[in-house]
Amino acid sequence: MTIAAAPETAAAEICPHCNKAPALCVCEGIAKLDNRVGLLILQHPQEQDKGLGTARLTALHFNNAVFKIGLSWPSLTKALGRQADPKAWAVLYLGSAKPADFPDRAEIAVLDKSGAPVPHQNSALSEIEGIILLDGTWSQAKTLWWRNAWMLKCKRVALAPRRPSLYGKLRKEPRKEALSTLESAGLLISRLERRADFEAALLKTFARMLGKYTEAKKAAPARPA
Ligand SMILES: [Zn+2]
Repeated sequence: MTIAAAPETAAAEICPHCNKAPALCVCEGIAKLDNRVGLLILQHPQEQDKGLGTARLTALHFNNAVFKIGLSWPSLTKALGRQADPKAWAVLYLGSAKPADFPDRAEIAVLDKSGAPVPHQNSALSEIEGIILLDGTWSQAKTLWWRNAWMLKCKRVALAPRRPSLYGKLRKEPRKEALSTLESAGLLISRLERRADFEAALLKTFARMLGKYTEAKKAAPARPA
């Protein structure tokens, strides 16, 4: 997908790339990252967060990324649109991982089926060919998990981020404790590929988006974002 500069549009129009109103669009200035570890973002159809949502924006950053909206797919290969081995892909775990158990204060851990870190983290991490992120509220993400049985074959990764989400107070419960989809992807792919520049590029876009969001709120406080 190519990213065109945001065209001059009427306020009611929506950017075809990020699906946001022009006041919130930050597509202009995004340079594609050449990621080796693949990214698959599955968004629940009822995900409504058009203002602060980051799923499409995240996928727009990467050459090797697929964004899909839906409830279920018969296999990872069908969801991705190309052949893939679910055992080599990792889904971001929704359960409560215990960061205290993460080896060496790592920010990412591969977990076993019971939610405990597996013994050989480095080799488990190096086997990961792609990351699956479930986008939506916590319960929507849970639904996606249960509707896609093939995810049981995938590895599970959990995050213990050292810094809190840039969302800060902008986003309310039930997700205030969690990183955005963009931040999760940035942390995972940059650590797996040892490319700190990937995360920096994503966070820069995210900060621009949050800045625009705050400006738009000030300009039209009554309008729902
Ligand atoms: Zn846009």
